[in-house]
Amino acid sequence: MQVSPPDRGGREAILRIHTRQIPLAGDVDLAQPAKTTPGMTGAELANLANEAALLAVKRGQDEVTQADLSDALEKVQLGAERALVMPLEERRRTAYHESGHALLGMLQPGADPVRKITIVPRGRALGVTLSTPDADKYAYTEEYLRGRIIGALGGMAAEQVVFGVVTTGAENDLEQVTNIARGMVARWGMSERVGRLSALPNDAQQAYGLAAAPQTLDVIDGEMRRIVDDCYEEACRKLTDHRGQLDALAEALLERETLEEADAYRIAGVTRLTKDIEA
Ligand code: ZN
Repeated sequence: MQVSPPDRGGREAILRIHTRQIPLAGDVDLAQPAKTTPGMTGAELANLANEAALLAVKRGQDEVTQADLSDALEKVQLGAERALVMPLEERRRTAYHESGHALLGMLQPGADPVRKITIVPRGRALGVTLSTPDADKYAYTEEYLRGRIIGALGGMAAEQVVFGVVTTGAENDLEQVTNIARGMVARWGMSERVGRLSALPNDAQQAYGLAAAPQTLDVIDGEMRRIVDDCYEEACRKLTDHRGQLDALAEALLERETLEEADAYRIAGVTRLTKDIEA
């Protein structure tokens, strides 16, 4: 069985446990990071508390403040900043790549809102687009999953549409795409041809060698390709149709390196749907 990530109350409790040994400043409200971290696991939250404590020490404080917590959250979600001098052409390509992810995320109804876009290299990536849900989600619709695939293909699609070539920067994106497509087809009954059965084991069952018949694996492969090809076509078509908005985002990124949620939506000219915002 997969363990589902803790809900909001659970996250707050986990943060409370992991900050028990850490002196917290009076302004610290653990409900705040608990609210903005749907999907995070207990281990990731423990890491967050740790990073905040390290940051406070580095800053010469004897208490962890709310600012330390929110900076630590950024590091945990986006990866550590990396000093890297990128040639202009590479920066331009990265700006379009991230803008492709972001714009498709903004245009997809029901997709998780885009929180931040950056072309400051972080972790192993040359740029990052961060999308997180407004509230805890427990089940996903087919439309939402297709939207996730389209968004993940958005970086590659933008490079294709703008430069006519695709670089190796999309490896991580393709892993994500493959995982979602495999789940849709082989585990969540979203392909008519495979049918409503769990045809591929999840990771836990894999250890026992349970797998589908070879013919079923062929059908799964074909269905995964069909879904991903459809989504890639849609990604390219949407970016071509919205080229002006893509250019605007990429230019703003080249100039400012990092865009926060409100600016990103304004520059892209997309109205953020507020219907599902939590109070
Ligand atoms: Zn990407």
